[in-house]
Amino acid sequence: MFDLILKGGTLPDGRTADIGITGGTIAAIEDLSTAEAGEVIDASGDLVSPPFVDPHFHMDATLSYGIPRINASGTLLEGIGLWGELKQVMQPDEIKARALEYCDWAASLGLLCIRSHVDTCHDSLIGVEALLEVRKEVADYIDLQLVAFPQDGLYRDPTALQNTIRALDMGVDVVGGIPHFERTMADGARSVTALCEIAAERGLMVDMHCDETDDPHSRHIETLAYETQRLGLQGRVAGSHLTSMHSMDNYYVSKLLPLMAEAEVAAIPNPLINIVLQGRHDTYPKRRGLTRVKEMQAMGIDVGWGQDCVMDPWYSMGTGDMLDVAFMGLHVAQMTSPDEMRRCFDMVTNVNARIMGLEDYGLRVGAKASMVVLDAGNPIEALRLRPDRLCVIAKGKVISRQSRNDARLDLPGRPASIRRRHSAHS
Ligand SMILES: [Zn+2]
Repeated sequence: MFDLILKGGTLPDGRTADIGITGGTIAAIEDLSTAEAGEVIDASGDLVSPPFVDPHFHMDATLSYGIPRINASGTLLEGIGLWGELKQVMQPDEIKARALEYCDWAASLGLLCIRSHVDTCHDSLIGVEALLEVRKEVADYIDLQLVAFPQDGLYRDPTALQNTIRALDMGVDVVGGIPHFERTMADGARSVTALCEIAAERGLMVDMHCDETDDPHSRHIETLAYETQRLGLQGRVAGSHLTSMHSMDNYYVSKLLPLMAEAEVAAIPNPLINIVLQGRHDTYPKRRGLTRVKEMQAMGIDVGWGQDCVMDPWYSMGTGDMLDVAFMGLHVAQMTSPDEMRRCFDMVTNVNARIMGLEDYGLRVGAKASMVVLDAGNPIEALRLRPDRLCVIAKGKVISRQSRNDARLDLPGRPASIRRRHSAHS
């Protein structure tokens, strides 16, 4: 007797199976046609996936678009300036309310694991306090991992170092940084060393905004990989964005990627954001500003797609749908072969979970019973359609349901309703 059986779904690897859930854990993945359960949900013909995972977000800034004004130039630097104005006037309750509203959106889309940076460059640390409360309040349905992020620069901002350490003392999970925003390359490199040493002392993971610029000489990823090896942090460090790599000299990159692979440093490009923020100083040709995704993957480096922003000083769009993120990544990185398209889906599920160090994740017996049913036949169709999430299960409980939303046609001799599904790529 199971608490819940999800019947007949198609798993991302193409198998069809029933999933039996007991006490918040996956208890069986097999033919359960004769088994009994408190509730049975029919997922026949639909894709059942482990939940979506976002390894890069800013939940203290989300849903603040237009407050106190919009980003007129559309650049990263105006966004940082605008955020600086906003954080002087933000109230803790507002931050919490916006974050919780975003978590509702995420839950309805099957996005159940999120790594959010939280700004530590404010002496009051109200963002940190608010997101620590949010982490607790959503714990039954979203695993929220927080990164202490000195947005204004560890050395550029006079109190950033002490406030970042205070945030870690308060219970923030991961050490962040922003070396390319320091005043000099030397200060940037020093900040990477200092922050990696803090992580090593405390046994924490590291995730830095790194080289988010079109300047090919921004090479802080080299220092990050070097310090990862020196301090024995292999497998616990990620470099987010890495957009300068797009513009780097090919010979230099041929030396850099093996260093990253040896150090087991993961990469988190954020395609929705990087395609709009980067290249703003170019005329034509205009660079895409996305890091070298396929080249890193070919070297065995873990690369996961991150979302970064939804309706904030840097980005006016977004819903929290990781399929939008993967869809943009697929286009910008030209990942269009069937294997590459499937990999894009894997990046917003399994690869991101690995980067975040989530141990009880996945569709396997003994893992946490969190999953999402999509109105699609397989991962490639899910990317193409970015369809409704028919059912979302978090830690054994159904937390969101959506009815199938077929279009009704009124055309003589044509079908009465359509779902835009197609049997290709099955
Ligand atoms: Zn970011």
